[in-house]
Amino acid sequence: MLYTSTRDASIKVSSATAISQGISNEGGLFVPESIPSLCEADFERIAALDYIGRAKEVLKLYLTDFTEDELEYCVNGAYNGTFDNNCPAPLKKLDNGEYILELWHGPTCAFKDLALQLLPFLLTTSAKKVGKGRTVILVATSGDTGKAALEGFADVENTDIVVFYPNNGVSPMQKLQMDTQKGNNVFVCSINGNFDDAQSGVKRIFTDNSIKALLKENGMEFSSANSINWGRLVPQIVYYVSAYCDLLKNGEDLTNGFNVVVPTGNFGNILAAYYAKYMGVPINKLICASNSNNVLTDFIKTGKYDRNREFFTTASPSMDILISSNLERMLYHLGNNDAKGTAKLQKSLAQTGEFSIEGEMLEQLQSLYSAGCCDDTNTLETIKDKFNKYNYLLDTHTAVAVKVYDDYVKASADRTPTVIASTASPYKFSASVLKAIDNSKCCSDEFEMLESLMSVTGVDAPAPIKALKGATPRFNNICEKDEMIDVVLKFLKI
Ligand SMILES: *Cc1c(COP(=O)(O)O)cnc(C)c1O
Repeated sequence: MLYTSTRDASIKVSSATAISQGISNEGGLFVPESIPSLCEADFERIAALDYIGRAKEVLKLYLTDFTEDELEYCVNGAYNGTFDNNCPAPLKKLDNGEYILELWHGPTCAFKDLALQLLPFLLTTSAKKVGKGRTVILVATSGDTGKAALEGFADVENTDIVVFYPNNGVSPMQKLQMDTQKGNNVFVCSINGNFDDAQSGVKRIFTDNSIKALLKENGMEFSSANSINWGRLVPQIVYYVSAYCDLLKNGEDLTNGFNVVVPTGNFGNILAAYYAKYMGVPINKLICASNSNNVLTDFIKTGKYDRNREFFTTASPSMDILISSNLERMLYHLGNNDAKGTAKLQKSLAQTGEFSIEGEMLEQLQSLYSAGCCDDTNTLETIKDKFNKYNYLLDTHTAVAVKVYDDYVKASADRTPTVIASTASPYKFSASVLKAIDNSKCCSDEFEMLESLMSVTGVDAPAPIKALKGATPRFNNICEKDEMIDVVLKFLKI
């Protein structure tokens, strides 16, 4: 299987090149030339395997230039012993036909671990295969990617990693998680700006030819751990396949398939569900849930994408995004793999902050997706309601998805079984979750609130979060948007 660019049809590279490079030279994203498919017998066979086995079965369809041994090494390194109970993506039943896919049992307690525990193995294996030297990973994060990438890449041979996060755009726990990161090859810096500023800054560095040349002279090359990297997306397809396998095993009635609800920011997670659907997983509707930064809700409802709007800092900070970079891949597929058309839309987005689609493309988008959004008040109310009703504690991001799903059911009366992606542990966002459950217990100390939340709910916090209590930050850096490149070069000593 070869990979091409969303902006240039003449590009054809192996998966190892796509992963080690991260982004195509002209700024496009790598996409598979065709989407592989699985049949019912395949799913039955895969359902009998554990998560590592399922991952290998899915990955080998996309990474055809990796050997069996290489794949084995990668999936074992990523998923053996790194997640609670060796179960990276358990499916929990919330109500009849309503399931929560818990994706936060990894070392950093957010769904990013599913991809970022695997990416370092995929990337170092790819770099070896294509004969590259040292890989420098640049990350822009709205909170969770940064920590998950740091944890994945810390002290990985032949790599360096620099993470930028928006100074006022991450939760105190996310900030502490990143600022306390260990490892000799890691650097963490906050920027005066929001996530989109961080992401644009990183993209600018990636595509600056003089900087690329400077790295090359020093035996280094950039790559990305953001979901623009195919190596981030492909591991995410696995858990949708795995969820289907678990529904089959549970004997759920899937005559009409099942719906998937995803709390969305950069459109990576929900795009992985789209790929799973095209591989044969009987996903019916893909329901895209946004917070008050509802640029995707408007786009799916009207066909007009417009980032020129107020940016809100919300209780679900990992979704505070107005430029959803993976939407580019979806546009490419919606246009029947039209690189020219995609390049044009992206150019319009870069120049004016908006673009529109219409006709068949819009119809197709709307037949695949449904969309909704939820503000902070409704998010916190949902956390409280669901805890009272099910004794189940949602984090703020997952609560957005649950509320949007409830609205969807009310409006559509669609009772198809549904899987809701749960993207973070509630203890990553203790302050907001405690505010929802028992406002009177809120205070200024993060760990006091964590203790209160445990005692009020009886739900235990994950060990990696409890372990942060009393930890001293190692990093305390801040820079301006236009200083990001200097920060990177200084760290690399070039
Ligand atoms: C990253 C993140 C999201 C958004 O995922 P995308 O793939 O960017 O759409 C949602 N929830 C949490 C907790 C996250 O960390």
